[in-house]
Amino acid sequence: MKVIKEVSALQEISDYHRTLRKKIGLVPTMGFLHEGHVSLILNARNECDIVIVSVFVNPTQFSPDDDFKEYPRDFLRDYHICKTSGTDYIFNPDEDEMYKENYFTYVNVKELSNKLEGKYRPEHFTYVTTIVLKLINITKPHNIYFGQKDAQQAVIIDRMIKDLDVDTDIKVCKTIREEDGLAKSSRNIYLSEEERKEAAILNKVLNEGKIIILEGRVERSDELIKTLEEKIKEESPSCRLQYLAITDNTLLDDIENLNEYKGEVLISLSAFYGKTRLIDNIIFLK
Ligand code: AMP
Repeated sequence: MKVIKEVSALQEISDYHRTLRKKIGLVPTMGFLHEGHVSLILNARNECDIVIVSVFVNPTQFSPDDDFKEYPRDFLRDYHICKTSGTDYIFNPDEDEMYKENYFTYVNVKELSNKLEGKYRPEHFTYVTTIVLKLINITKPHNIYFGQKDAQQAVIIDRMIKDLDVDTDIKVCKTIREEDGLAKSSRNIYLSEEERKEAAILNKVLNEGKIIILEGRVERSDELIKTLEEKIKEESPSCRLQYLAITDNTLLDDIENLNEYKGEVLISLSAFYGKTRLIDNIIFLK
């Protein structure tokens, strides 16, 4: 396994593997890897000849009150996790390698970036799509791997790939969870013992919402959202729910009448425990 820090070096490596007709898989990450990331790497290993993992904490996608400085980092640990998971190259550029002097260009998937997460993290997705497109141009992957955990991110990048005719297939892998259902996240280490215990409620209400919708027990989604919010309040006093939304999984529009709707349902939420912001979701066909 090699660690590459320069854009031009990785472009050359990717060109070389492409001329040998090797299939390249890219797993973009911000490091501090856990089993969620590993599952993406293993999927890539399974489906591709060459696996590239990018480890880059992208400063632009954090808002000023966000946790860019405190975002956990441990490159040595990431190195070992990548190595044992079958990675061929880690791309670990410095900030000024990715954003050179007079950097002015951004990609915006207009209609989708201001919904759900975008309401609370303005411009976040513009910076995500920009860095992902840069990583695609640098690594020239046949497949690019994302987690279902960041459902809106997957929908937006899928849209960008289609709209801009990017020659890459997006693979979305299922969310890896702790035993009690909490989605694995680099941010979970910031939860206190009590918060960690309470946070299992998030996945629980998502599952409950799914069952209620599939059984047709509640017609109006605002009513169901209220019920689920109350359940979180009752069972997790430390939780400050930021939003819980029921939308379709393509345009991310609110579904108002649950019984009339047919298609993929996305129930997504974000919640604070102290300063730690967690997101989770569930997707199912109705
Ligand atoms: P991050 O390092 O948080 O930017 O995440 C890098 C990739 O890992 C993204 O595509 C995430 O959706 C994915 N990911 C993060 N957590 C999980 C998880 N628990 N299960 C599956 N994929 C995940």
